Amino acid sequence: MTDQYRVTGNPIKHSLSPRIHTQFAREASQPIEYTTQQCDDAEFSSKIKQQLISGEILGTNVTLPFKEQACALADIRTARADTAGAANTLWLNEKGQICADNTDGVGLLNDLKNNLGLNLAGKRVLILGAGGAVRGVIQPMLEAGVARIDIANRTVSRAQAIADIFVGDAVSACGYDQITGPAYDLIVNGTSASLSGDLPPVPDNAIDAHTCGYDMMYGATLTPFCAWCESKGARAIDGLGMLVEQAAESFLIWRGVKPSTANILSQLRDELQQK
Ligand code: NDP
Repeated sequence: MTDQYRVTGNPIKHSLSPRIHTQFAREASQPIEYTTQQCDDAEFSSKIKQQLISGEILGTNVTLPFKEQACALADIRTARADTAGAANTLWLNEKGQICADNTDGVGLLNDLKNNLGLNLAGKRVLILGAGGAVRGVIQPMLEAGVARIDIANRTVSRAQAIADIFVGDAVSACGYDQITGPAYDLIVNGTSASLSGDLPPVPDNAIDAHTCGYDMMYGATLTPFCAWCESKGARAIDGLGMLVEQAAESFLIWRGVKPSTANILSQLRDELQQK
């Protein structure tokens, strides 16, 4: 039988993950089937446990709104899932234990480094938002050698809760009105503001033409954040590469094979541009 994998979320119909994993599998000659499944809140944990333990599925990706629940239901968590308190990849190990990892952060880092050629060592980084996605990216960024990370969020206490996880003063939290210059090297929009067509209230002193702006969101048209970056003469990048790279890390965990990301990324980019 073909090995079964899922992406679980709500809503989930428009997920690109089946497309991405099916192409990874084809190119890497791996016999897998990868489909979406929608769950409601009450059934998520019991359903996923039953599916993994029975062998009905070998693994699942997890997206909104279940990343925290996915982390909590696991018997074993990687350090990066544990730090994030959120997981996007689940599987069963050889001892029958449910394992959780968070590949969002390494996905972002791989996109920045390998696809976009950015060296993060010594850089000053501003991260907007303090939700599940941001929780996953701080540790990998520190490991990549950034000099400092300021996390700005509407609800400052959520940003502070993330900053408090990290010892030392490399990570700090603030409100948008506390952001001061000089302009950052990298600004990552990890808010969901673009979903509703909004720009987070980030002041102009945070950016100049040397800044690189990265929106975790992507779409057929420029996101409001990317449009703002371009209006300031800065480079603007959307989160399509992060999506593909976090999927590649999940595939590696499940199959022991690192898939090539170049073809699927350029196909998805072409299709978005044709919309
Ligand atoms: P969460 O719901 O956990 O967090 C949302 C965050 O956005 C909160 O910090 C919230 O602030 C903030 N926010 C929402 N609306 C606004 C607004 N209008 N102005 C300012 N801040 C706002 O979401 P996630 O962390 O899971 O996801 C965040 C984004 O990242 C989403 O757009 C998601 O699609 C994207 N993402 C992309 C991935 C990829 O592979 N490309 C992977 C994972 C996520 P507050 O706390 O004050 O409410």
